[in-house]
Amino acid sequence: MIAENIAKLKEELGAEVQLVAVSKTKPVALLQEAYDAGQHHLGENRIQEMADKQAELPNDINWHMIGHVQGNKIKYMAPFVYMVHGMDKPKRFKELEKEAAKNKRTIDCLLQIHIAEEDSKFGFSYSEAEQFLQDDITQKFPHLRLRGLMGMATFTDNTAQVEREFKGLRQFYEQVQRDFAQAGAINTLSMGMSGDYEIALECGSNMVRIGSAIFGARN
Ligand SMILES: *Cc1c(COP(=O)(O)O)cnc(C)c1O
Repeated sequence: MIAENIAKLKEELGAEVQLVAVSKTKPVALLQEAYDAGQHHLGENRIQEMADKQAELPNDINWHMIGHVQGNKIKYMAPFVYMVHGMDKPKRFKELEKEAAKNKRTIDCLLQIHIAEEDSKFGFSYSEAEQFLQDDITQKFPHLRLRGLMGMATFTDNTAQVEREFKGLRQFYEQVQRDFAQAGAINTLSMGMSGDYEIALECGSNMVRIGSAIFGARN
């Protein structure tokens, strides 16, 4: 089942779009199944859970932290995390920089933009992000490499709204690539989940975070 779901999705996504299989709440046996099917990019939304799973699974997995980052937990993921999507305020960059330096690593990260209407979601506003990127962040955070942007659309049946939100993020992504080239190696736009990845792809996403469409519904 899992292998089939992954194969089908990969065919749909093509070679240009990175699939992150979101395995939060799922037992390691299912993550191993995804790994055996060739899916080596896995996403989790809790640092402790990700660290526990990482300890039990092959060490060539690329672990993506896609959830809200708690500063006091960063030390548990800094030794191994591949990409942190939830960089939702300047303070996160300071915190992650410190732990990346301690581990003598350069950690890839995405700046999270708040594109949804729900207040429960996190992220920089566009103007906050612009302001943050005015600083020379490669100099300020030498152990971080900004690779792009991440956003979550509003949870709604209104596809026009979702499309509007994703298109806005895509436009900002292009602006960042143009105007803040010094900010890092900007080549990643993480948007789209099980319910809205098709719209995200139309809007130019090149990284999708898909959980339930691979592993089944969560409790
Ligand atoms: C859980 C989660 C996903 C995946 O959600 P599905 O609807 O199961 O595909 C994607 N992104 C983030 C940030 C998540 O927390």
